[in-house]
Amino acid sequence: MSATLIDGKALSERLRGEIAARAAALTAAGRQPGLAVILVGDDAASAVYVRNKVKACADGGFHSVLEQYPASLTQAELLARVAALNADPRIHGILVQMPLPPHLDALQVIEAIAPAKDVDGFSVHSAGQLLTGLPGLRPATPFGCMKLIESTGVALRGKHAVVVGRSNTVGKPMALLLLQANATVTVCHSGTPDLGLHTRPADIVVVATGRRRTLTADMVKPGAVIIDVGINRGDDGKLCGDVDFGPVREALSPGGFITPVPGGVGPMTITMLLANTLQAAEAAA
Ligand code: NAP
Repeated sequence: MSATLIDGKALSERLRGEIAARAAALTAAGRQPGLAVILVGDDAASAVYVRNKVKACADGGFHSVLEQYPASLTQAELLARVAALNADPRIHGILVQMPLPPHLDALQVIEAIAPAKDVDGFSVHSAGQLLTGLPGLRPATPFGCMKLIESTGVALRGKHAVVVGRSNTVGKPMALLLLQANATVTVCHSGTPDLGLHTRPADIVVVATGRRRTLTADMVKPGAVIIDVGINRGDDGKLCGDVDFGPVREALSPGGFITPVPGGVGPMTITMLLANTLQAAEAAA
């Protein structure tokens, strides 16, 4: 029997139902949760992501604002928009879609967002809260990965978790969340000479490299939980993750859990963005 699929779409739908119910309660009290998304330039992929986020907001009963600007927007103009949204009481979460055009300073923009409205959880303030174990807004993708792992029923305490990738938005916060859940955590990256040496004994492996077949069947043990964050295109043009899905799924048996791509981590990312916006709105109320 091959490993069990972790259905991110189903989990995401269930969580969105709960989020919508809490959002409706806030709205009834005159405090509808609100998310503002800023998109600068004409990156096609970013436009799709932003559309999906705004639609998810509408479906969840949130107030949402999409501000679209040409790539010629200046840093000062962008900072002025962030300041206006910081002061807007109808907006509880502000998201500036990355990547920004190269002439704009992304870090300065992220730092300009009021900490209470940093629903992407990318600011130094939010990262510090995560590092020190304080409550706060967690980056949506690793936060969603934690929910996916939780959904398997596998307890993290005392388990060996390996994170492959160390970006500020996925790998590092993922490692900190796993550590906070009392797993023993190893972080691997492009300088790790023998990745399999670390992943083979691991109980949980989260792969976020953006490279197809980073994790192959000879690099996992039966019964492990595999979370595939990657988004790539296969030779057939279809979407695929960083994990060699079919063979790895077989190698995990007996037992074991694995997320598919698409339908695993992806749907959870937007859901956790809504969860963060709701959390920010509840805190403001
Ligand atoms: P990133 O910033 O490019 O980071 C990639 C990380 O992987 C780096 O730390 C890099 O190491 C490491 N790496 C690269 N090749 C490796 C290898 N062969 N072995 C071990 N480590 C390796 O990417 P990211 O933003 O974290 O995103 C990773 C993937 O997740 C991408 O495909 C992205 O599209 C996807 N993603 C998906 C979602 C979603 O919602 N599903 C959300 C965010 C990201 P170094 O640090 O040494 O360079």
